[in-house]
Amino acid sequence: MPELPEVRTVAALLSKNLARKKITDLSIYREKNILVPKEEFCAFLKGETFLNVTGYGKYLLFHLTNHKVILSHLRMEGKYQIRSLKEEKEKHDICAFDLDSGETLVYMDVRKFGQFTIRREEDAFSLPPLSHLGKEIWDISAKELYQLLKPCKKPIKEAIMDQHIIAGIGNIYADETLFAAKIHPLQKASSLSEEEVSLLKEKASSILSKAIEEGGSTIRSYHPEKNMDGRFQVSLKVYGKEGELCPRCSSPLRHILVGGRGTTYCPICQKRKERGILIGITGEIAAGKSATLSYFKENGFQTLSSDEVVHQLYEEKEIIKWMRENVSSSLIRRGKIDRKKLLSLFLKDKRILEKVEEKIHPLVYQKIHTFLSKCCENVNIAIEVPLLFNSPIEKECDYLLFVYAEEETRKQRLLARGKDPAKSMALSPSFSMSEVKKRCAFLIDGSSSLSYLEEQLDKVLSLIRQR
Ligand SMILES: [Zn+2]
Repeated sequence: MPELPEVRTVAALLSKNLARKKITDLSIYREKNILVPKEEFCAFLKGETFLNVTGYGKYLLFHLTNHKVILSHLRMEGKYQIRSLKEEKEKHDICAFDLDSGETLVYMDVRKFGQFTIRREEDAFSLPPLSHLGKEIWDISAKELYQLLKPCKKPIKEAIMDQHIIAGIGNIYADETLFAAKIHPLQKASSLSEEEVSLLKEKASSILSKAIEEGGSTIRSYHPEKNMDGRFQVSLKVYGKEGELCPRCSSPLRHILVGGRGTTYCPICQKRKERGILIGITGEIAAGKSATLSYFKENGFQTLSSDEVVHQLYEEKEIIKWMRENVSSSLIRRGKIDRKKLLSLFLKDKRILEKVEEKIHPLVYQKIHTFLSKCCENVNIAIEVPLLFNSPIEKECDYLLFVYAEEETRKQRLLARGKDPAKSMALSPSFSMSEVKKRCAFLIDGSSSLSYLEEQLDKVLSLIRQR
């Protein structure tokens, strides 16, 4: 979706191409996109001459003679073309303004979300939609912005994309601004200090200004003019760069969802202030995940093992009842779930495993979330989740840490724990190393001694604390 810099670029080009050209006729191909009756729209504009085109937030303002204005929002993929009057109408054309120059200004929109309305110049900013918009970043003072964010409980990324608070910032420039200001996208807007808000404003202003100079960013369908691209996309630091290395600290950039929008950030440079750091530990079975978790506990982290959560769940009456009714009554011995028997059932029939997982996993995630919500402010947290990838918890973690070990070592450890390595390993998740490398900031080798494991974790900890 075009944001402020793209809209400004389009406005400048249109301004250059339309000035002093008179509207001789109008064609409306899709009335839904015009927010006033078609007849009113045409009568208001016919015979007027374009003076210039400006932008406000994500809106284009076409200024015409007799103090008239057209407000246009491009939404997802709207675009303008100036064609010769002789050219045929195209499939996605929404409306066309014939000009006395022998040209026609056409608005086309593949997604059909774009909107038009008309205003008198003097009313343009006192009536919706523009009256509902916040100021643009250059016009708001850091103090004003701080006052607007203070009562806002939303994540900061959502807040700066809220057009009522600031006009013009969308997904691309929100990611870039937060990276530049070293602010975690999920951090609550209300938790930012005045200095942080001031830095955020400064970074957003300079990024948007630079992007305007560069003609915006061409991502997917945005082209300022036919066959022309913006140039700011080469200056993007994080947007769309999930898995690539942070240009500032070289750790892998992470992708999460914030308010339903894809978001890329650096977990090292953009720490989440209100609850300290959240580390998610995952890895192969018997590779050293528990020892890793213990290490963090000894170093002042609050910790939770999802394995323990599962153990607790298996002791809950409701789960025991569910197992009796939905898996097998022979599983229950003296009122408890026989886990060895459950394991062999899983091995015999994968569908049972899937069924139990479907029941248990959401409950585990729920318990983890409850735990997280109860953790004290500013305390660092480590949680061990064997199936961390693609779980809702993964998105919350600031760093993912993967523990691996040689197969033979893991077999020996399982034997020492009185387990059947073949069975245990058959049921444990398998990981593709390329995926692991893409997602995890830290890879820990758990093959050898505990002291070697701790040595590696010392490095992780000092890296995290340094930043
Ligand atoms: Zn970084």
